[in-house]
Amino acid sequence: MPIDAKQPYDEQNIFARILRGEIPNKTVMETDHSLAFHDINPLAPIHVLVIPKGPYVSWDDFTAKASDTEIADFVRTVGEVARATGADTQGYRLLSNSGKRSGQEVPHLHVHVFGGEPLGPMLA
Ligand code: C5P
Repeated sequence: MPIDAKQPYDEQNIFARILRGEIPNKTVMETDHSLAFHDINPLAPIHVLVIPKGPYVSWDDFTAKASDTEIADFVRTVGEVARATGADTQGYRLLSNSGKRSGQEVPHLHVHVFGGEPLGPMLA
């Protein structure tokens, strides 16, 4: 069920539970403010999710409320993930669904990093 990007943060959402260590994940990298892990249902040979550690529902929420330090860390981590996975060598795609009309399912901001093969017009 797609979520509303303006809804209050739900502390029980699945990514909040991953951040608290209640649910395992396949970590690609972790920084002070961000976590990157392999998507449980990959749609490409490389499919990594990057999330901020702070309680942000969506891209909209994050860019309105997060500190410059958190935003810089997050954006840099996305780039580091592309390099660490090798997605950077042949091209990759970044995607972040924000709110109902985009089909965002998990109410914690995440950027998808897709790569590892020629990509079709849309994923996720
Ligand atoms: O952008 P959207 O909200 O639709 O993407 C959510 C993503 O979170 C999906 O790609 C789904 O496979 C992934 N997911 C995950 N681990 C979970 C639950 C969802 O990687 N435990």
